[in-house]
Amino acid sequence: MKEFYQQSKEEIRKLLNGSIHPLSDEQVKEHQKKYGMNELVEGTKKSTVQIFLEQYKDFLVIILILAAIISGFLGDVESTLVIVIVITINAILGTVQTVKAEQSLEGLKKLSSPMAKVMRNGQIMEVASREVTVGDEVILEAGDQIPADGRILECASMKVDESALTGESLAVEKEDILLDETVPLGDQKNMVFSGSFVTYGRGSFLVTSVGMETEVGKIAAMLKTTSEKRTPLQINLDQFGQKLSIIIMVFCAALFAINVWQGKPAGDAFMFAVALAVAAIPEALSSIVTIVLSFGTRKMAKEGAIIRKLQAVEGLGSVSVICSDKTGTLTQNKMTVEQCYVEKKCYDADVLTKENEAQKQLMIAGILCSDAKVVEGQEFGDPTETALIHAGNRMSMDAEEIREHFPRISEVPFDSDRKLMSTLHDLESGRTMLTKGAVDVLLDRTDMIQENGKIRTMTNQDRKDIERQNQEFSANGLRVLAFAYKKMDGVKEINVDDEKNYVFLGLISMMDPPRKESKMAVEECIKAGMKPIMITGDHKVTAAAIAKRIGILKKPEEACEGMEIDGLSDEELKDFVEGISVYARVSPEHKIRIVRAWQEKGNIVAMTGDGVNDAPALKQADIGVAMGITGTEVAKDASSMVLTDDNFATIIKAVENGRNVYENIKHAIQFLLSGNFGGILAVLYASIMALPVPFAPVHLLFINLLTDSLPAIALGLEPHTKAVMERKPRPMNESILTKDFLIRIGLEGFVIAAMTMIAYTIGLKTGNTILAQTMAFATLCTSRLVHGYNSKSNAPVIFTKRFFNNIYLAGAFILGLVLITGVVMIPNLHTMFKVQTLTFCQLMIVYGLAFLNLPIIQCLKAIMKKAAGN
Ligand code: ATP
Repeated sequence: MKEFYQQSKEEIRKLLNGSIHPLSDEQVKEHQKKYGMNELVEGTKKSTVQIFLEQYKDFLVIILILAAIISGFLGDVESTLVIVIVITINAILGTVQTVKAEQSLEGLKKLSSPMAKVMRNGQIMEVASREVTVGDEVILEAGDQIPADGRILECASMKVDESALTGESLAVEKEDILLDETVPLGDQKNMVFSGSFVTYGRGSFLVTSVGMETEVGKIAAMLKTTSEKRTPLQINLDQFGQKLSIIIMVFCAALFAINVWQGKPAGDAFMFAVALAVAAIPEALSSIVTIVLSFGTRKMAKEGAIIRKLQAVEGLGSVSVICSDKTGTLTQNKMTVEQCYVEKKCYDADVLTKENEAQKQLMIAGILCSDAKVVEGQEFGDPTETALIHAGNRMSMDAEEIREHFPRISEVPFDSDRKLMSTLHDLESGRTMLTKGAVDVLLDRTDMIQENGKIRTMTNQDRKDIERQNQEFSANGLRVLAFAYKKMDGVKEINVDDEKNYVFLGLISMMDPPRKESKMAVEECIKAGMKPIMITGDHKVTAAAIAKRIGILKKPEEACEGMEIDGLSDEELKDFVEGISVYARVSPEHKIRIVRAWQEKGNIVAMTGDGVNDAPALKQADIGVAMGITGTEVAKDASSMVLTDDNFATIIKAVENGRNVYENIKHAIQFLLSGNFGGILAVLYASIMALPVPFAPVHLLFINLLTDSLPAIALGLEPHTKAVMERKPRPMNESILTKDFLIRIGLEGFVIAAMTMIAYTIGLKTGNTILAQTMAFATLCTSRLVHGYNSKSNAPVIFTKRFFNNIYLAGAFILGLVLITGVVMIPNLHTMFKVQTLTFCQLMIVYGLAFLNLPIIQCLKAIMKKAAGN
């Protein structure tokens, strides 16, 4: 059988669709059923049961199971039962958390899944790439990711990067030709393949295979693995957790040896050592990070920032430089034509008329040399071009009619490196190439000018006049396009080399107002210790005018042109970037150099981008931010965050979220470690003082389950505060375990241990060991619940509204209090939990001591805050 690339378009259409027409909705459904959805089957996903079973893989849980078996053999059935219950509840909680976190990340993935434009029922529509099916006609333009394999139907200078598939880094030019011989993949010029992307031009193709049947699918089938990526913080905490576990294990082993040496039964000593290990090792550390990160990303998605790489959430908190595009990110990307300059005169847009031949000619050029459409008020395409269509409408010039009358014969598409676009038409005056683009670029290629319908050589004075007019428009923040033409008799196809020796037609200036939230966002960005930088393809004067309005540019000398950095070495550039906040006429290569220079100075850089050429800079930046609306699929693919509203202010909100998420994780960890440390200190004290062991193993297990997980997660979900934006960005390589952090853990742990030991001593002095243990257990447990409130902030919060703002923490606190009170007050539970009923007075002592943690630790926080001088 002939391969698809050896068949004609019609043959393939008939073969796949039964006719030469595009697919109907029913056929789409039929095909999706027949060929499957267009997705690569990832390594088999874990089922909930598997996740549940995985909870038992934990080293500590294995020790606990061992302990349960040993205590069963020793006849302590209650302990066995308690341990089994505890580890089962633990496993259930762990499963719920993991599944929830996975679901939320999965949801996020869907939000940022790639899209494709297809022709169905005679209409172009945008669908998720996974819905593209065999027989679909897919429309392609520069920046699109190719969603499936297929045969080219139409092609206008289309170049495709197939490096992911063939390893060939140069883009391949595609052609609508018929191939007879057998050729390798790289030479199948009439085919496109899933996973590659369009770097230039336009075209369409007919899908011949989807999902695992595509060439990339066949490779994917060979390497079916899904690797789970961990964030730097998770890796950091895993390593810390491992080290800490070893230390605690050694400590517990020593304690076991001492107890046995002191004559305690080996079984009891073992159980105690195990329980202490479980209570002391913060095994929840890294899972808390996952949960908090996944909740954080959900909040960010709601606010317009979709996180594609989890690391970005942490990274956002350290961003110190934000490089942003101008058009659409800082401005609204709603262009309106304001003024025109034609035949050496300037006109307001509302006085333009088609009765004036020169004005009409300029507008015809605007309409023909653009791809945008306005259908029933709805705009499709680049706003710079839709502005031209609207301006034409205001002159009663119908774009579609004009385009039908003078069809496009050939074209050289716009790209932000060249900053020009050209099209070829048969006008009334003959075959003509029309070009529009940046004034400086076009003027350099122009040597004639049209005046009073006559063409003459352009004089220096003409050039100066045009430049002066351009400056005037730009100084008002207007975006300016220049228009020119060239006679091309007999030419069928145009290319970049033809873009010279033009006849100048005129200028059109348009307004793109700044977004109203940009100014505030820039202010907030600066206050939060970050440097906002505008990087734009637009004219320097236009960019500077807008940058000044929104507060990015303070002094005129802070603006420069991309060209200026061409002559600088990387070393010189490092010094140069310091004084610049606006880069104009920048090409995508400049973007990478600017990002690198800032990074080499030790900064964490966020960079926005939308085009194909922006992908390398997005990858180079620490946080690549792609535009969700105007961004190409390629840019999105290279980024770690996508803005659904293309708005600069959303980046600042995302930074705020990132900082808050990190802060909350830190508080949750501080809570866990200080509580654990409190427990260890209490045991250590009793050992040193040769007192009876203060806790039965079951107590520590109970505390571990109750006071470790729930309040810690609740702290991770603490409502966000604006205060984080009043600080400087956190250094990226700063360990979470700073000296200040460890001092706090030590002090808070000490206070908790002291309260617990006071209760213990009262119990010992007024009753027996069981009473002392009951009081110590209840006090440690309640203290840690109360300590949840201490851990909300490093600053005292006791007299602020913030104290009551976390309902999850309140829930965890109330639930914990009810449980611990139930355990010590319900006689039926006493044998199982090895406690005795407390009198009202004893219970009040327990509560009183536990609650005393609050004022003491709050005072400590106030003192530390004062000492730090903030
Ligand atoms: P930013 O990089 O902030 O998004 P930008 O949109 O102005 O800025 P480009 O799209 O690279 O950057 O445009 C650079 C220049 O190219 C513009 O100043 C304009 O003169 C010209 N230009 C923009 N769009 C078109 C177009 N569709 N056709 C021809 N020229 C264009």
